[in-house]
Amino acid sequence: MIVIASSNGRVGIDDAMQVLKNGGSALDAVEAGIRPVEANPEDHSVGYNSWPNIMGELELDASIMNGRDLTSGAVAAMKGHPYAISVARQVMDNLPHVLLAGNGAERFAREMQAEQWDELLTPEVVEAWRKKLRDNMPADVLETLGDETPLREWVKLATDPERTYSTVNFIAIDKNGDMCTGVSTSGWAWKYPGRVGDSPIIGAGNYADNRYGGAACTGMGEMAIRANTAHSVVFYMKMGMSVEEAGRRAMEDLLDLGGDYIGGMNLVALDKDGNHAAMTSMTNRTYIFQTADMDKYEEKDRTFVEIPGRWARIGE
Ligand code: ASP
Repeated sequence: MIVIASSNGRVGIDDAMQVLKNGGSALDAVEAGIRPVEANPEDHSVGYNSWPNIMGELELDASIMNGRDLTSGAVAAMKGHPYAISVARQVMDNLPHVLLAGNGAERFAREMQAEQWDELLTPEVVEAWRKKLRDNMPADVLETLGDETPLREWVKLATDPERTYSTVNFIAIDKNGDMCTGVSTSGWAWKYPGRVGDSPIIGAGNYADNRYGGAACTGMGEMAIRANTAHSVVFYMKMGMSVEEAGRRAMEDLLDLGGDYIGGMNLVALDKDGNHAAMTSMTNRTYIFQTADMDKYEEKDRTFVEIPGRWARIGE
C-alpha cells in the first residue's frame, strides 16, 4: 500500500494513508487525501480560497480515475462547491458520463447534496485579485468590467509566475492492488472564464491503469492536454519502460509542441508495483510519498527535465 502526492498534498496524505490502513479502497484514499487540500485556505491553487479567474470567480476542475476498470469522473469550471474531487467521484459513481462542466456540474453537485459554500474566497484573496486588475487594467476598462468586456487581451495577466499555476495530485494503491489517481485545481490564476485545464481531462492530467501504473500532472495544463501527458506515462510503462523512464519520456514529448505558449510541467507517477518517480521542468520541486510501514510521509526531489519556456504575450 502506498500513497504519493504533489508536495501540497502534505495536509492530506495522512488521511489517505489512514484509509488504506483501515482496509479502505484507493478511491476512498485519494478522495480523503485531496479534500483537506481543497479545504486548506493557505493553498491558493486548489479548492477553497484559490486564485479566481479574471472576473474574480472561482472555477474548479477535478478528476478521479479507477485503475481497476478505467472508470472515471470529472468536473470542470464548477462554481460554488469547494470539494470538487468529491463531485467528480459522484459523477463516476452515479452517471453514465465522465465529465460535467459549468452549470451542469453545479446542478449535479446540488442534486448530490455536495457541500455548497456561499463564500469561497477570503477578503485577502479578493483584494489580491482586485489589486492585480487595478495594477494592470486601465481605469475605464475596470469600471465597466462585465459580461460584454472583451477579455482576450487581459489573459496576459494569467502569466504571473507566482500566481499562475498549481494543482494537487494524489495516487494510491490499496491492499487489493487497486490503483486510483486524483487531481484537483482552480486552474490558472486570472484565467479566461470557462477555461478548462488538464486536471479534469482523463489522459491529459490524470490516468490510472492497475496493469501498468498511474500518473498525474501539474503545470501548464494546455501542454498536458495537447500531448496527453498522463496517459503517455502509463503507455510508456505499458511498453516496458520503468516508471522513471516513462515519466522522463512523457516530459520529453512536450519538446515537440509548437506554438507560442510553452510553460512549466510537473508530473508524479507510480507503477503497479509501487515504484514511484516525479518530474519537473521547474526548479526546486518536490513530491511526497508514504508506504504503510512509514509513520510519516517523506519528501523527495523531482527529476529535472528541461523544457525551454517561451511566451508570446497576447496583445503585445
Ligand atoms: N495544471 C493546472 C491547469 O493548467 C494548473 C497547475 O497545475 O498549475 O489548470
